[in-house]
Amino acid sequence: MKLDYALPEASSEAAGAALGGEEILYCLPYDLTPDGKFTEGFLVITMTRLMVLRENRLEKVVPIASLSGVCCGELNSSGMLEADPSGDPFPIVFFTMEHMARYSMAERIITDLIEGVRPGIVSTDDEKKCPNCGRPFIRNTRICRHCSDRVGVLKRIWRVSRPCWGYYAVLLLLFWANSGFMLYSPYVSKRLIDEVLTQFGAGGRLMGHLLWLVALTGLCSLATTLIGAVREVVSAKASNLFVRDLRNDIYKKVQSMPLGYIEEKNAGDLMHRINGDTGRIQQFIQNVAVQAVNEVCLFIGVGIVVVSFNPVMALLIMVPIPIALFITNRIRTSVRMRYNKQWRWMDKLTDTLNNVFNGVKVVKVFGQEEREVRRFESVASSVRDITCKTEQYVYTVFPIIKFLIGFGSYFVTIYGGMLVLGQRMELGELMQFSTYAGYLYSRLDWFSMLPRHISQAITSAQRVFEVMDEDVPPEPAAPLTAENIRGEVELDNVTFGYKSYKSVLKNINLGVASGETIGLVGHSGAGKSTVINLLMRLYKADEGKILIDGSDIEDYAMDDYKNHLGVVLQESYLFSGSIINNIRYARPDASDDECIRAAKIANAHDFILGLPDGYDTYVGEKGQRLSGGERQRIAIARAVLSDPKIMILDEATASVDAETEQQIQQALGRITAGRTTFAIAHRLSTLKNANRLVVLEEGRIAEVGSHNELMAKDGIYAGLVRAQRTMTALSVAIDAPGGHGGPSGKGGRGGPPPR
Ligand code: ADP
Repeated sequence: MKLDYALPEASSEAAGAALGGEEILYCLPYDLTPDGKFTEGFLVITMTRLMVLRENRLEKVVPIASLSGVCCGELNSSGMLEADPSGDPFPIVFFTMEHMARYSMAERIITDLIEGVRPGIVSTDDEKKCPNCGRPFIRNTRICRHCSDRVGVLKRIWRVSRPCWGYYAVLLLLFWANSGFMLYSPYVSKRLIDEVLTQFGAGGRLMGHLLWLVALTGLCSLATTLIGAVREVVSAKASNLFVRDLRNDIYKKVQSMPLGYIEEKNAGDLMHRINGDTGRIQQFIQNVAVQAVNEVCLFIGVGIVVVSFNPVMALLIMVPIPIALFITNRIRTSVRMRYNKQWRWMDKLTDTLNNVFNGVKVVKVFGQEEREVRRFESVASSVRDITCKTEQYVYTVFPIIKFLIGFGSYFVTIYGGMLVLGQRMELGELMQFSTYAGYLYSRLDWFSMLPRHISQAITSAQRVFEVMDEDVPPEPAAPLTAENIRGEVELDNVTFGYKSYKSVLKNINLGVASGETIGLVGHSGAGKSTVINLLMRLYKADEGKILIDGSDIEDYAMDDYKNHLGVVLQESYLFSGSIINNIRYARPDASDDECIRAAKIANAHDFILGLPDGYDTYVGEKGQRLSGGERQRIAIARAVLSDPKIMILDEATASVDAETEQQIQQALGRITAGRTTFAIAHRLSTLKNANRLVVLEEGRIAEVGSHNELMAKDGIYAGLVRAQRTMTALSVAIDAPGGHGGPSGKGGRGGPPPR
């Protein structure tokens, strides 16, 4: 997100004297007046003052030293940056929601300045609009259609397709051969007409010549057909080779990107880039780019032939072309915009499907199938309407252009006819010329569709290249190995936010000894999962460090670190495949015996043997053929297999019944022994064996201590425990015979209350 806009010249002049030669640290646009009217203005931030410029006039200067604080707040669908919120507040600027994130960052920047710190805030959040021209980016991208280098993209497609260049050379030869036969065959037809068919009364004398010329025509036709077939095979090979490499590259890139990036782009969009966009580039190469060479060669070849044949007639062919080109050029933008709109809605359709399939369980549970069908229908109808309108437009305008282009052939026929009638031209010659004219027109017709194909391919290529160009977080130059780590963990002043302008964890300091078990506790949204996300290196701390055995977590080779980390999450994901392969996922080289040993430790062995195919049982997509508790035990076996030094348990027993929980707790007890463990559990009772409990509140550590210490303190933890005891007592009362829990008595799996 851009925080250093350039001041327009007139605003710079207006700010000049008040700036007093100070460096502008940040410059942010705002767009509303205090009474909610649109305006154009900038907030300039220097080390000592804030300057508000509106429509190139200096509105006010606020010395930083006079401020006790600032706050970025939301009004009615707009925002305001307010000074001294806890004292005598006054507004600094107003803005639309588009700038909300920017001013949330301004709040942090100015707060730093008030505290006397030079702010080093750089935003990595994406803009929604092009900072150059202000137009919206292509959805889900940072690509501006107007400012991007489209020729550069085509050149890059060419460079990326380097492995296919050999195929292209073969194709070029085939095209030339094809063009040669195509140019030669009208000449044979001309001879057939002039030397045989118009020699009335020649009888059988010309039979031999007739047969020979017909055979020659047939040979030309056979040759072009054979060359065409070989050409299709070669171009399919080339484009498939290209697209395979491209798909692999982009997939590899996506896999190497941090989780935050993948979440932000969303799975549907990335799948579309990997499959749809690459496919579209493949179609472009196979059917358009390679063909274009043929069309250009043929156009030039035929052009030379017709001009040398009869320059006047050649000129007649060309007469309507400038008009057609003019019209094509005028409608190009309109066609492009229509296609862009169509794509945007197609993406929306994919997103809708993706969303529903991912949350299909929720849809079913809440019986919302009808609503989802209606929602899908509404998007699908919009897609249909937009597609119909676009196609209607394209298939009306382009045939008209085609007709206009072909209009020259009538002039040619009239002029040529006059020459034939005046015996200044043979009939065969006129037919030959007309065939060449037809060739020229089909080339031009093809070229008129070229901008559309190029435009589609460029957008797809930009979407693919955008992913390929993302910076992968660098691996350390000399990565440490996690092989012999002891598992000491230290969070040193860690601050982190999923969005750079909103910190979720603030200045977290925590030292954890090797083998210690830490229970992370706090209200929902306090930041517990975020702590373990950082430990799992799914995200990187914005400020501060996480140290493992005294070394920065970022200094360990990523793969190696992950190999020495055991993770059991609330909803363990199993891949479709056999149970043994799912256990082996943690260590692909593990033997069957090792997997079975891990399953025994995880209390999974018995239930696996009870399944029809034992360890070879197919678990179904996402492991849906197994119960939650069974999936969880397989996940534990997976964690055991990697023999980790650090264990992470995130609500590992949240979604299982009390009996299964006992088995899982037993298994967890086995695998956490002697390992540094971070555990989050909704049921606080399950954390009673933790060495220390760390209570988080709004992203900060609020309390640290054992269960007894924290109960004695009677703070947040004690409050949480009391609340949970009340809930458990209530659910026990409801479940008890005579309670209101219904005949089954199910529903209470609260487990014993914390003591
Ligand atoms: P807890 O585990 O204590 O319930 P979390 O660590 O999951 O809390 O979340 C802390 C805050 O971070 C919440 O406000 C939540 O909305 C936000 N948050 C969590 N995950 C993401 C994410 N992937 N993207 C953006 N915000 C997130």
